[in-house]
Amino acid sequence: MVRNIGITVSAPAKACNDPNCAFHGALPVRGKSFNGIVVSSKSSKMVVVVKEYPHLVGKYKRLERRRSKLHAYLPACISAPEGQRVRIAECRPISKTVSFIVIEASETNGS
Ligand SMILES: [Zn+2]
Repeated sequence: MVRNIGITVSAPAKACNDPNCAFHGALPVRGKSFNGIVVSSKSSKMVVVVKEYPHLVGKYKRLERRRSKLHAYLPACISAPEGQRVRIAECRPISKTVSFIVIEASETNGS
């Protein structure tokens, strides 16, 4: 029933019949994957995820914190309110700005 998406994550407890779901639909997952925190879940099938990454400043040989926002598709079987720590994976472009999908919502929320 649940497809193997090729990434070791715990499959969602709920089932859905969303064709764009990585687990229950036919959406291939390939490319990069990130951990991030949901900062906006106003849209019905999309969340805005912030990922933070270190960036080396060569002049000072120090790392600075950078952050970027990614739009990620939210399948019906995963719930991710704002503040939720999620794992997102790259997929084919689903819309103009969405080419990632939420594949796991961690139990421990981001503090
Ligand atoms: Zn699903």
